[in-house]
Amino acid sequence: MIEFNVAQLLKGPIGGTRDFELDDDVGYLDPELHPVKNLVGRVRFIRTAQGVLVKGKAHVSLELICSRCLTPFTQEVEIVFEDEFRPTIDPLTGYFLDVSDVEPALLITKRHMLVLDELIREKLLLAIPMKPLCSPDCKGLCPICGHNLNEGPCEHVTQKKSGHPAWLVLEQLLEK
Ligand SMILES: [Zn+2]
Ligand SMILES: [Zn+2]
Repeated sequence: MIEFNVAQLLKGPIGGTRDFELDDDVGYLDPELHPVKNLVGRVRFIRTAQGVLVKGKAHVSLELICSRCLTPFTQEVEIVFEDEFRPTIDPLTGYFLDVSDVEPALLITKRHMLVLDELIREKLLLAIPMKPLCSPDCKGLCPICGHNLNEGPCEHVTQKKSGHPAWLVLEQLLEK
C-alpha cells in the first residue's frame, strides 16, 4: 500500500506540512493497470482544521493496447491530485470522530495511516486515454486480412494510398 503515518502531523498545528517522495509499484491497484516502471512523484501533506490536505503530482509508464492496430505500446501518464483526508480518531483525545459524510477512501485509519491507493488508482484510470494510439498516424489493421498496416501494405491496401483502411477498401470496390 502507498501509505504514510500522519500521527505527528495531526497532532501539530494547522498549516504544518510534510513532504514525501513517491516511488511505488502501482500494478496491484487495478487489473487494468500495467505499469512498466514504478510510479514516481511527490506529495505534500498539509494539516488543515479538519484533517490533512494532500497535494501530489506523479507519473508512470503504462503498457497500453493501441485501439487501431492492437499492438501493445508504452505511454507515460501524469496525474495531479488534491484531496482532503479526515481522521477517524481525534489524535489528541483518542475519541472517535463523526466521519459519516466522508468518502471511505479519504479516511485516515484508526492507526493514523493515510492511504493513497484509491486516490491514485482513480486518477490513473482517468488518465488512460479512451482510445489509446501507438502513434497519432497509426495505420491500423487491414479490415479484410487483419495485417498490421504499420508494417507495410497487404494485397488489399496499396502503399500509395493513405487514409483509413476502410475507405481504401471501399475505393477498391468502387474501382472494380
Ligand atoms: Zn497502433
Ligand atoms: Zn489485407
